[in-house]
Amino acid sequence: MTAGVDPGAKRAILEACDALRADGLTTLERLVRCPSTLGNEGSALDEMARIYEGLGLAPRRIPVDMAALKDHPGLSPQLIPYAGRDNVVAVHRPRNATGRSLVLQGHVDVVPEGAEDEWTTPPYEPAIRGGRLYGRGAGDMKAGIVSYVTAFRALKAAGLQPAAEVQMHSVIEEECSGNGALACMVAMPKADAVIIPEPGPGLPAIYSAEVGVVWAFVTVTGRPAHVRDKQAGVNAVEAAMAIWQRFEAYEREMNRAEHIHASFRGVNHPVNVNLGTFQGGEWNSSVATRATLGLRVGVMMGNTADQVRADILRIADTARDDAALRGAKVKVEFRGFHADPCVFDMEAPVAKLAMRSYAEVAGVELRKYPATGLTDGRFFTLYQGTPVACFGPDAQEIHGIDESVGLDSMHDITKSIALCMAEWCGVEKA
Ligand SMILES: [Zn+2]
Repeated sequence: MTAGVDPGAKRAILEACDALRADGLTTLERLVRCPSTLGNEGSALDEMARIYEGLGLAPRRIPVDMAALKDHPGLSPQLIPYAGRDNVVAVHRPRNATGRSLVLQGHVDVVPEGAEDEWTTPPYEPAIRGGRLYGRGAGDMKAGIVSYVTAFRALKAAGLQPAAEVQMHSVIEEECSGNGALACMVAMPKADAVIIPEPGPGLPAIYSAEVGVVWAFVTVTGRPAHVRDKQAGVNAVEAAMAIWQRFEAYEREMNRAEHIHASFRGVNHPVNVNLGTFQGGEWNSSVATRATLGLRVGVMMGNTADQVRADILRIADTARDDAALRGAKVKVEFRGFHADPCVFDMEAPVAKLAMRSYAEVAGVELRKYPATGLTDGRFFTLYQGTPVACFGPDAQEIHGIDESVGLDSMHDITKSIALCMAEWCGVEKA
């Protein structure tokens, strides 16, 4: 089957992809209607279970068991309880396993919609404008999930099926820990390759590398006072801002050329330190008692999450002596991402097949993308040694307002995954 799929079968698969395009769009709209932010993934997970059943597969729930994973180097500290939020997987088994096995993986969780009143149309009411589907999660990454599902359906519609085991993983918490992906990877057999259809940076792309990420919460406790005695108090909000300035200095340092790994050469400002959330103060006329910075700190290739965690502790520690803090107490907690960076092997057969399939379908090459954000691909790469092709459609404004995915681009990804699956796994009569 490495010699390729015969031209007749290939034509039938691509025609089936075309015939299923409208169905795929309906499926994407259903998924975008699920507001699957952290802790609210249930409706999207149930939808995925129904979709897998519709493929003739038996969905299985896989919990995130923190106790079972506690010694795994890829585990991130827990944010919220895992009960009732089990991942969903399904497995296709061939009659005769003659090809190479495959995992098709995607996350159902989405980041918060932000200021809903800034959206042109509501974030969880999918809307099509100018050949794009708008909605939170449309691009990141519900379109990619629908693409792999439609690709599998297209093989079946062409009277074929993969001649190797194909696992499908729908996971939680890609956007904050990766623990959903890790739990599924550990629970399932190792496959010969993984495809993750994460979106490209505003254009179709294949991930060549990605940074790591550490999340930290820095809490400052000052000394409250009535505002008439302001000088007697220590303002926690002001102290927290002084600490944030130290993290900005750290970010500048980490982006100096000598700290940038070769895989990220030419990428503008690859190490981002983000002050994503802030809670502080109690009353306009009281000196603030407490403030918490919610930080996301990038980890450059060559550095590790452990080292960055130590950097964060050191920055908080030295801030304690800062006159601007006036004796405020500083506490650091790590919850959420503890993720190492990784490089994806662009010479791996599955990566080359993805690039070749996409070029055949779209007539242009996938852009190689060293990403300044991360995916679940690191788990398979770093801890399992399974090659990953992480490639997906043109998505815009992911994590922003008016997120969208290009529908022609999504269709190209569907066809590319269908060709990849047929060639990687081989095909047999359905
Ligand atoms: Zn994503």
